[in-house]
Parts: sequence; structure tokens; C-alpha cells
Amino acid sequence: MYEEVSSPAVATITVVDPRDESPIVSLPVATPEEISAIVDRARGASMWWRALGYRARAKHLGSWRAVIAHGASELADVISRETGKSHDDALLEVMLTLGHLEWAAKNAHRVLRRRKVPSGLASYNQHATLGYEPHGVIGVIGPWNYPLYTPMGSISYALAAGNAVVFKPSELTPGTALWLADAWAQVSARPVVQVVVGDGSTGAALIDAGVDKVAFTGSTTTAKRVMAQCALSLTPLVAECGGKDAMIVAADADLDSAADFAVFGAFGNAGQTCVGVERIYVERAVRDDFVRRVDERMRRIGADGWDKVYGPLTLAAQGEVIAAHVADALANGGTVLAGSVHADGRRVDPVVLGEVDEHSRAVQEETFGPTVVVNVVDSLDDAVARANATPYGLGAAVFTRDRHQGEALAAQLRAGVVTINSVLGFASVGALSFGGVKGSGFGRIHGADGLREFSVPKSIARQTSGGMMKLLTLERRPKDMELVRKLIPMLHGRG
Ligand code: NDP
Repeated sequence: MYEEVSSPAVATITVVDPRDESPIVSLPVATPEEISAIVDRARGASMWWRALGYRARAKHLGSWRAVIAHGASELADVISRETGKSHDDALLEVMLTLGHLEWAAKNAHRVLRRRKVPSGLASYNQHATLGYEPHGVIGVIGPWNYPLYTPMGSISYALAAGNAVVFKPSELTPGTALWLADAWAQVSARPVVQVVVGDGSTGAALIDAGVDKVAFTGSTTTAKRVMAQCALSLTPLVAECGGKDAMIVAADADLDSAADFAVFGAFGNAGQTCVGVERIYVERAVRDDFVRRVDERMRRIGADGWDKVYGPLTLAAQGEVIAAHVADALANGGTVLAGSVHADGRRVDPVVLGEVDEHSRAVQEETFGPTVVVNVVDSLDDAVARANATPYGLGAAVFTRDRHQGEALAAQLRAGVVTINSVLGFASVGALSFGGVKGSGFGRIHGADGLREFSVPKSIARQTSGGMMKLLTLERRPKDMELVRKLIPMLHGRG
């Protein structure tokens, strides 16, 4: 069942700085009536935005990009305050985001413009064209872990495709969203980018307000609720959900590089990354060397250093999930290979768990914390089979010096994106689409597929002449059907 949306559960939300629990701001929660009015305004603005055309839209998006770029440090401060991540990490998030905004704006015309397509011999008198039109208003519902990069993966591509956007950020990170909307207001007074503040019920009210498509990013559990609600009005949905990404380390891998990326992928952003590394499968011959290298790096950062590398948990309650996964892993034969099992409120120490039962929660469920499982495998086939054996399929990584082997492994991994000899290497490549399979969701953001995700294909067939045959009439002539009888084997008889 989806949530009742008659009134918001709370009248205000108070945003807290996870670094010291201090309140940042209290914001009123949008009511369903207000959300409805905002979506109506967005619909009006979407007509103007759509009519502008690709070139003028790209110009506006370029101006927005410049405003964001000039305020990058201030925006990073807002992100850092709301999530607890370091200013440097937040600044990197801003840079990655702007790269996608640029790619979407610059490529929308090339990808989506109306183009002539072949009509085929039997339809030689049809001038066939295919074009992509905007949906209208996209309701974007976003998470807190990358409160800028993640929703902007939908917003940038939706806008470039000619849609207006109403964005419901996580209740933990509304300031980032409001900053973005303010930046838009410096570019145009038209409400093409608007924000509604609130909690889950606000997201439900946004869907109820009649948006033309929903772009959801968040947990798989919430995605199911959102999908059930969308089903009632047949509102299309793109769902970017959680992951349980695996990294495979082959015996021939550059172990120093693999260890660097393992530590970064598992512990960066306190492990609160949808495509973070949560499982590592390493070939037996190099397992000890690999673990030693990971341990060395963790010791180099040192007990005090982790505070600089990553901040506190943004969502305090996630600490319970992390603790439960670690306890389950240890209760089922797992051991601590590096780091330690220690948490103090939102501060969780990094830990590497070894030989964890493949059926345990730490292997099967998204942990979303600074923990990683390292299990040894006797073959790369075994590694692939284990990597594929969870309900998720977002990202995966392969480390090997053999290019062909890397690509062969990538082909076998059931994931939306695979990196070879890096983790997260795709994140800044505008042309690469992003999204998951299985419980990680469906649909794509980024790249040409991301632009099409926020478009409706429209086909036009224009008849150019009467043609030799008169088939599309209720008064067909016998000689037309005679020709059809000859044409069928001629066109298709050879397969
Ligand atoms: P949630 O699923 O808890 O929430 C996501 C968004 O949905 C929030 O804005 C939330 O509002 C809103 N929401 C909650 N209930 C409803 C509802 N019934 N109807 C409509 N909207 C609702 O995810 P988190 O915010 O905790 O984010 C973490 C998750 O996001 C992880 O699973 C992570 O893997 C995933 N993620 C996936 C990414 C991808 O691209 N595949 C990228 C980044 C994160 P509120 O927070 O106010 O309750």
C-alpha cells in the first residue's frame, strides 16, 4: 500500500548537522494542496521551456551551470553541513554534477532531434521520421547520500529533454535542493525547477499531484511503494535503487591499485554510496597479499585519520543496520581481517570482514556503511557466480591486467555498470548511461539513454505519393493483391 497523502505527517522538518547534531534550520513541509499548485505552475512553465527549443534551453542550462560553478564552494558547504561529508568530497560532487549538466545540455539536440528513418521497400511512399518529445513535468524524488549528484542525474537530463522538474529531496538534505532552485531563479523567473520540502508523504503527494513521470532514487523498499502508487495512475517511473556491488580481484591484478580502490570504494563517504564496494572476491593465490595491502592502507590512515577521510553517518538509524550485518557475519563464521568493530553513535570505524557466509545479511543486503566483505574464491567463474548471486545488480568492478579477461568478466556480471581496474570510474563520463538491473531498479539516467528516459518517442509517417499499390483502402484491386503475393517471397523468402 502507498502512503496516505491527505496531510503531511509533520508540519515542519528540522535539518540537523550530523557532525554535531546541531539544528541547521526548520522548514515547513509542503501540503498536498501546495504541491498540486506547484505542479500546475510547473506544467505552465514546461510549455514555455519546451517551446524554447534545444539551443535556447542549452543556453539557459549553461547559465545555470555557471551560477552553480561560481557558488560551488558555498554549495559544497551546504552539502557538507547536511550530510556530514567533508567539504572536499562535497566539492567533488559539485564538479561531477556540472559535468553531467554540461553533457546533457550539449547533446540533447543530437540525441533527441527528429530524424528520418528508412521506410523500407513496401512502404517506399512513406516519409518516416522519429522524434522525441518531453513528458511535461517530471517529479524527482532523491536520497540524501549524494544530495546533489544523484538527483541532478535525473534533473539535468529531464531539463535538457524539455521537461520542467519538481524535486522532492530527502528530508535530511532539503537545503541542497533549495540552493539549486535559488540558483535557477537567478537564470529565469519561470518555475522550470521547483522544490517541495518534506518527508516520504511529500513524495507520495508529489506523485499524486499528477506529474507525468517519476524519477525515483532511493532504497529498493521505497521504490516498490513508489511503483505501486505510480501503477494507480499508470505514471511511468525510472527507479534508481540500492546495490551490493562486488569487486573481483584476479590473480594477475595490480594488487596495489586494487587495494587503493578497495579502500576508497568501500569506505569513501562512510560507505554510503549506492555503487560503493560492499563485497570483494579475490583469487586464492593473491588473497593474503591483497588483504595485507588493504590493511596497510587502513593503518596508514590511522584511527584519527578516518574522521578526515569520511564523516559521520548521515542517517543515524543506519548504524543499527550496519551493526546487525556485522554481528550476523561474525556469528556465521566470519572474521575481522582489518580495522575493528567499533561504533560511537554516528561514528563507525571501518572494518574488513573475511570468509563471510554467502547467505548472511552482510553479503545479501545493502549495508550502506564503512564495512566490506572479502571472500576467497578458487576461480574467476566462482567469483562471477557469487557476485551475481544477490538480489541487486547496480555496479561491479574487476581487477586484472589482462584486457580480454577483464572484458569477458564484465560481460558476465549482471550489473548496470562495470568498471575495469577502477571503481566509480564511470561516474564522470557523461556519455555512459547509469542504472541497475534486478532489485537495483530499471530505466537509465545519464548519457543518450538518460535523455531518452525523459522523452516520449513520437513517430510520424507522411505519405508522399499514392504509390503503385492501393493497400490501405477497403476497395483494394485484385492486381494489388497479386503484387503482394509476389512481394512476400521476394522480400522475405530468403530469411
Ligand atoms: P529512501 O528510499 O529512504 O528515500 C528516498 C526518497 O524517497 C527520499 O526523498 C524519501 O523521503 C522518499 N520517500 C520515502 N517514502 C516515500 C514514499 N512512500 N513515496 C514517495 N517518496 C518517498 O532512500 P534514502 O534517502 O535512505 O537513500 C539511500 C538509498 O538510496 C540507498 O538504498 C542507496 O543505495 C540508494 N541510492 C541509489 C542510487 C542510484 O543511483 N541507484 C544513488 C544514491 C542512492 P524522506 O527521505 O524524506 O523520507
